[in-house]
Order: sequence, then structure tokens, then C-alpha cells
Amino acid sequence: MDYDYDIAIIGAGAAGYAAAIYAGRSGVKAAVFDKGMGGGLATEADDIENYPGFKKIKGPELMERMKEHASQYAEMKFLEEVKEIVKMNNGFELKTSNRSYRVGAIIIATGTEHRKLNVKGEKELQGRGVSYCATCDGPFFVGKKVAVIGGGNTAISEAIYLKDIGCDVTVIHRRDELRAEKVLEEEAKSKGVKFIWNSVVEEIIGNEMVSGLRIRNVKTGEINELEFNAVFVSIGEEPNNEIAKKIGIELDEHGYIKVDRMQRTNVRGIYAAGDITGGIRQLVTACGEGATAALAALEVIGKRNPFS
Ligand code: NAP
Repeated sequence: MDYDYDIAIIGAGAAGYAAAIYAGRSGVKAAVFDKGMGGGLATEADDIENYPGFKKIKGPELMERMKEHASQYAEMKFLEEVKEIVKMNNGFELKTSNRSYRVGAIIIATGTEHRKLNVKGEKELQGRGVSYCATCDGPFFVGKKVAVIGGGNTAISEAIYLKDIGCDVTVIHRRDELRAEKVLEEEAKSKGVKFIWNSVVEEIIGNEMVSGLRIRNVKTGEINELEFNAVFVSIGEEPNNEIAKKIGIELDEHGYIKVDRMQRTNVRGIYAAGDITGGIRQLVTACGEGATAALAALEVIGKRNPFS
């Protein structure tokens, strides 16, 4: 069959790049589509300390290295959003913001996006003190009072980063214990990050810029207004599952794509890898899933998996 690409990979994060390397090295024509410039959410990470081979590396640097590596093996199609997948007799038609392509197999590696608080002031003040990325926007608030909302690894890593660059940091968490790894919690506390427990944000206050937060203690019901110059919302992620949904791919109860051990979805010829499949959601697991998906996808384009 004459395809534009044997394998189309949607999403240029860690999973997509790893898939591209394994697809290209297996001798198939592959392309990676990304609506932005690639790198995924890891480009927002400051120090990454758990990617084997690098004791400490900045998120943007690691992702740039992956991009360069993957570019040797697959075409990179940045700023080209995949809008729809259409099932054909043989393979698929991929409709993007630029044109349509005939492809043999598809790997969905679209990852996740930041979950929103959905409170008054969040949308209105986004970019004016409301941020979802400490490494991107933190430097604007050096010497200022900032709040980080959330208790997971991202929230605490961001709090540490903000403290390190000289912000006055308070973490506001809805429970009285963190979800984050102990090592991060201890580092944050030792560096002087402050914590407000059992509290949720009711409103982000401000006219031109954020000036404070209205928070509610979930145990006592007490409402407080506190002054802050910025708020970093780090309350987890939502899966980017729109194109998967449209073609009838089975999702779990949280909206993540269900896959088998070879990263197959319920639609033959479509695989998924990385954060979009839920679970552990680490760079190292995303790479493993991307590699597996690329090798598994060879089965529908008549190529041999060199590792099986
Ligand atoms: P996460 O682990 O899902 O944590 C989200 C946090 O936000 C939780 O503490 C949660 O509270 C809180 N939250 C959720 N919805 C909320 C709401 N509506 N209002 C207030 N608080 C809310 O998300 P994440 O920290 O972004 O991490 C995502 C994935 O990336 C995880 O698998 C994480 O391990 C990984 N990651 C790893 C590292 C690392 O290894 N160093 C760094 C960053 C991220 P509850 O705890 O009460 O549920």
C-alpha cells in the first residue's frame, strides 16, 4: 500500500519522540505531528532528576535533545494539528490543519493539559498573575508573594523552583497531607516554603493583576482573603483525548486511553503511548510506551518487529 507515512505519530512529547526513533530505525516512513513546537509538558519542568543517565537536567534541554534525536528518524511536522482520523479500507486518513495524509498506522501520544480550578478570576487573570507553569512565569514574580495550588509532585517541584529563584512561596492544598514524594516535601519544608492545609481556592482576586485569593478551610468552613501577586495552579492534568474520542477509542473512567501490553487500543491500527494512557505518567515510562507502540504498529503495515 502506498502511504504518505507508514506510521503517523500524534504528539511530540517523550512518547512521540521515542516512537519516532523506533519506527525510523525499523525502516518505516514515520512523521510526528504536533500542534505546537513539540516537547510536551516536560518542557515546563525545571530540574528533572529521575531520567536515567542524567542526574539533573533541565526539562527544555532534555526535550530538545530528544527532538534532535528523533528528527534523525522521522519527519517533524510542528504547528500542524491533527483534527480527525478517518478509518479507510486499508489504513487511515489523517486530516490536519494543513492537509490530509494516507497512513498505515497511528500512535496517539497527545499527553495531557493542565487542569483548571474553574473559579472566578482564573480565566480573567490568566497571564496576569494566574499561571500553570512556574518555570515560564515565575521569574516575573521574584521577591513577590506567590501561591502554589496543589499537593502533587508538580506543585511541590514548582514551589521549590519558585523559592529557589527568590519568591515568597505558600502552597495551598485541599488536604492535610501531600501526594508528592517525601523527598520533595522535605526539600520544600527545609527551604522555607509555607503551607496552608485543608484549604481550597474560592476566588482569584484582582483587577489588572492578581492581588489575592479567597480561600475556604474545608474542615472549619472559615473563609480568608490573603494577599498574593501570583497564583500557580498545579492541580494535575486532563487527557487530550478529543481525536481519540471522535474515532471511538475506548477510554477509562478518567478519560485516558485504554491499551493492552503492546499499546494497542480497541481500534486496530491505532496505538497510544505516554501520559494519554494514564497510569504512572513519567518521562521514562512514556519513552518505553512509545518504543513499544512503534514496534507493535509494524504488525499492521506488514513489517517485521526486529525485537520479537
Ligand atoms: P497529581 O499527582 O494528580 O496531583 C494533583 C494535586 O492537585 C493533588 O495533590 C490533588 O489533591 C490536587 N488537586 C486536584 N484537583 C484539585 C482541585 N480541583 N482543587 C484543589 N486541588 C486539587 O498531578 P501532578 O502533580 O501534576 O503530577 C502528574 C503526574 O506527573 C504524576 O504522575 C506525578 O508523579 C508526575 N510528576 C512527577 C515528577 C517527579 O517525578 N519528580 C514531577 C512532576 C510530576 P489530592 O492529593 O487531594 O488528590
